[in-house]
Amino acid sequence: MFVPLTVNDFLKRAETVYPDRIAVIDEPEQPANPVSPQTYRQVAAAARAQAAALDDMGVPVGGRVAIASHNSARLLTSFYGVSGSGRVLVPINFRLTASEVEFIVEHSGAEVLLVDPELDEHLAGVTARHRLVLGESDDFLFPAGRVGATWEGDESATATINYTSGTTARPKGVQLTHRNLWLNAVTLALHATITDRDVLLHTLPMFHANGWGTPYAVTGVGGQHIVLRKVDGAEILRRVEAHGVTLLCGAPAVLAMVLQAAATWDGPIPGRDRVRVVVAGAPPPTRTIERIQSELGWEFIQIYGLTETSPLLTMSRQRAEWDHLDSAGRARMLGRAGAPTLGVDLQIDPEGEILARGNVVLESYWAQPDQTDAALAGGWFHTGDGGTIDDGYLSISDRKKDVIISGGENVSSIEVEDVILHHPNVREVAVVGIPDDAWGEAVTALIVTDGTALTAQDIITHCRASLAGFKCPKHVEFRDALPRTATGKLQKFLLRQDFWAGQDRQING
Ligand code: AMP
Repeated sequence: MFVPLTVNDFLKRAETVYPDRIAVIDEPEQPANPVSPQTYRQVAAAARAQAAALDDMGVPVGGRVAIASHNSARLLTSFYGVSGSGRVLVPINFRLTASEVEFIVEHSGAEVLLVDPELDEHLAGVTARHRLVLGESDDFLFPAGRVGATWEGDESATATINYTSGTTARPKGVQLTHRNLWLNAVTLALHATITDRDVLLHTLPMFHANGWGTPYAVTGVGGQHIVLRKVDGAEILRRVEAHGVTLLCGAPAVLAMVLQAAATWDGPIPGRDRVRVVVAGAPPPTRTIERIQSELGWEFIQIYGLTETSPLLTMSRQRAEWDHLDSAGRARMLGRAGAPTLGVDLQIDPEGEILARGNVVLESYWAQPDQTDAALAGGWFHTGDGGTIDDGYLSISDRKKDVIISGGENVSSIEVEDVILHHPNVREVAVVGIPDDAWGEAVTALIVTDGTALTAQDIITHCRASLAGFKCPKHVEFRDALPRTATGKLQKFLLRQDFWAGQDRQING
């Protein structure tokens, strides 16, 4: 028997098995018409009503519905109301400028644009055939008691188009199918052992790679969603305590905020020996991993992947063989990106680039056949990341474009960053290669301190204690802040841009 895998399966099961459980607790500060806690029966009814509203607006199966929203119960419902009725959800990064949002709305050909009330003014000039402000339009968008036309289901149909931000000049629309999302969610639930006892705090923006699949995975097992609108370390600790949170996801920068808040937290740290924290987006410093485990008492899990891979490709999680290791030893193991998750094949090509194969890999980039062909050349997805595989475990050495070649030797900027972050007065660092007449490229560190006055020599001396001479920065500059994407990833191409202006290549030998 063949039954198409669709996102509806997750909500259908929750509604059947856990109809009266509280499914979602919305952000209490949600502007305009906050949604009260909803059971799975209510979320499923809201999704059916949203589908009816899209029927009324004449949005066909396959039509695109863009949504620019902070995390909210309405956004969570839209993962089902839109995709589950055969339309395509286009979740947009709420931090983008109006012209960037406009590009996405136009490029995706969205017929409907849903806007968070707080973004209405900022996005006033961005329109679509139907433009609705969430909250204010709830009676229209979620008409109580209405049921949309049933979609027959097609697992090869596109469920979402996620525009990737930050790491390339122009965003690309990643087309993910129901099958991609289904398998990603189930694999995530399997490896992170997500169960009906889990309470997920949405620290990750849901627009980013569809919250890594958590809106589906947690729903499918009847867990609970706690919506968080704005990331703040102390607020995360308060919510963990108030709601009995067991699971959260984020970039290392989010964990750094929690660690900072924990330092002045009054009383026992909430969630000790209960919370699992799933981290990706950048390689967390081993020092951060150790602190999460010792200072917070939370289990650290690392994953690696891209929007293009739904995103889960690897996971690194404590295993029995590592039980005898001390905390530094365990942190070293967990500092690797991880082993391939079920159904994923990885290999490293001769240039050191990580290639991936599996049912989580994107169908194509929306309306960009050349980019699609390049990304999927040879039947493997080209990640653009550099890495090595050892004992079946992947380590990310760098973004391919971030490898610095200095004096003919490869330098991993991540390795240098990790060392510099061990300096007690360094808060943030980015290491890039800049053109250099003598060395080809010179390792350059851009640093944000904790306010202490440091000199370039302080940093270089610190690096010399643990790094080969050629890896140590030749230049050090101090900055007030470093540019990051919404999920905290460094936008190194922006930092590099200043140094490489006027060069026809981005490498220098
Ligand atoms: P995005 O598609 O925006 O989620 O970004 C994906 C990129 O984030 C990857 O290509 C990597 O460069 C980076 N990334 C994700 N997870 C990790 C990780 N665990 N370690 C290092 N880099 C990561």
